[in-house]
Amino acid sequence: MSGQILLAYDGSPHARKAAAIASDLARRYRARVCLVYAYDPISGYLGEPFLQEATEAAEKIVQEARSLLGGGLEVEVETLEGPPAEAILRVAEVRKVDLIVMGTRGLGRLEGLLLGSQSQKVLTHAQSPVLLAR
Ligand code: ATP
Ligand code: MG
Ligand code: MG
Repeated sequence: MSGQILLAYDGSPHARKAAAIASDLARRYRARVCLVYAYDPISGYLGEPFLQEATEAAEKIVQEARSLLGGGLEVEVETLEGPPAEAILRVAEVRKVDLIVMGTRGLGRLEGLLLGSQSQKVLTHAQSPVLLAR
């Protein structure tokens, strides 16, 4: 593989593990990393302070992921609005990534579940291999 690894990052402990794996694989295979973060739709009615807060929160998540990935890698960032699985699948398809790396679970509260709804959707619909970190 000398291609692209998609890392889906939401700041959760599982996503942190996914970032470490994506970093390791990208180095071994000299692959680029495409970092995906999906944010909730922001209503324009809420006004400027909310938009700014959401933008800052997204930037913080992206910086965190970059620092977990470490230096010396080619990282491209895709910050998209909408449901995470759809954003991940869309980016994976458009960029024709070779591998998707994500966590089994994310920030959701249902701790008993093996798979979160977003990882389940990606696993069901992806055209590429999917690596789930647990
Ligand atoms: P649920 O969202 O169904 O309540 P959950 O939050 O525990 O459950 P998922 O959302 O499926 O589980 O999270 C699984 C993985 O999906 C995360 O570890 C992360 O890799 C990815 N992911 C989740 N949300 C996002 C997001 N907003 N942006 C990018 N990746 C995400
Ligand atoms: Mg979630
Ligand atoms: Mg959710």
